[in-house]
Amino acid sequence: MDKQQLLVELQSKGLQLAEQTSGAAGRKGGAGPSDHKAIVVDGTTVMVPVYTGTAAVSPYRLSAAVNSSPVVPSEEVQPTLECHGQAIASVQFPKQPKFYGLQTADGIPYWKIALLHSHDVLATTVLQTCMRYNDRATACQFCAIGQSLAADRTIARKTPDQLAEVTEAAVRLDGIKHVVMTTGTPNTPDRGAAYLTECARAIKARVDIPIQAQCEPPADFSWFERMKAAGINSLGMHLEAVTPEVRDRIMPGKATVSLETYFEAFAAAVQVFGWGQVSTYLLAGLGDSLNALVDTSDRLIQLGVYPFIVPFVPITGTPLEDTAPPDSEFMYRLYQEVGQRLKNAGLSSQDVEAGCAKCGACSALSAFET
Ligand code: SF4
Repeated sequence: MDKQQLLVELQSKGLQLAEQTSGAAGRKGGAGPSDHKAIVVDGTTVMVPVYTGTAAVSPYRLSAAVNSSPVVPSEEVQPTLECHGQAIASVQFPKQPKFYGLQTADGIPYWKIALLHSHDVLATTVLQTCMRYNDRATACQFCAIGQSLAADRTIARKTPDQLAEVTEAAVRLDGIKHVVMTTGTPNTPDRGAAYLTECARAIKARVDIPIQAQCEPPADFSWFERMKAAGINSLGMHLEAVTPEVRDRIMPGKATVSLETYFEAFAAAVQVFGWGQVSTYLLAGLGDSLNALVDTSDRLIQLGVYPFIVPFVPITGTPLEDTAPPDSEFMYRLYQEVGQRLKNAGLSSQDVEAGCAKCGACSALSAFET
């Protein structure tokens, strides 16, 4: 099996850890790559599901134990990756970041404010609440934004000063290269753009580091200019699903924002942030067909928007927790089709200044761009 195939397989099928039953290091719940663990395979850092039902029966397994802290990755051990009991590769874990050992003057651990993603990304959810989350009629069925808050693994609102303080430390102590700021959606017309702008300005006043912000499209697209002026380099506005029926079923609240509104916002954002500096998440496995995902990706690429495609991995405790993830053949074909279109258009994850497309740990797409 080549490396491309292995990455696709691992992200679709997940990975059993040696002490799966006792709770191993990784992220449970929250936004972004929840129920995942970062591992380094042949020099590439990937986020791999470890706490899901699928992972529990995956043919892939790590042979050695890792530590049981919820926040401390294990870098001391060198486990072997096995498939059906056969050793196929040695893997490493990204080093435990030094900034995890610090806390603010009022006693909040830095890891409750921002986390290390992959090996060089600082990721934070600036507002850990969402206007859609608490009502089944509006909540996105895949979302677990309230879980890490309920479990006291984060705080509801990270202040601009806290984010600047943690970012400065993460850059100085751990060589962080870019920042991803996402947000739950507040019930304001700017949809979080205003607060992300404030946070970016505070971070940039303290340390010069590329920042990606992620939010729903604001009602007034002039927010894009203000976000850019505050120091946000790249913008993510996440479609997640693309077929109207799938959007209505999976994310009934967010689906009230039409696809056309998203595409108008994408076009306006590319004018401000530049070709290839705007991206969207597409979660493959929610019900969209291969053709629907490829066609939408094609339309996005023509606009200069990077379609960051990830296999949908259901998070424990969400309404979709028993959904099967997409099979690896589906993902492989999807990556091939979209990778070719990225290549034809000259759109590359390497050229993105900050964010998920640049990081790439949740998707194998960048391996198909060349
Ligand atoms: S791709 Fe995005 S969500 Fe995934 S690890 Fe990287 S920064 Fe985090």
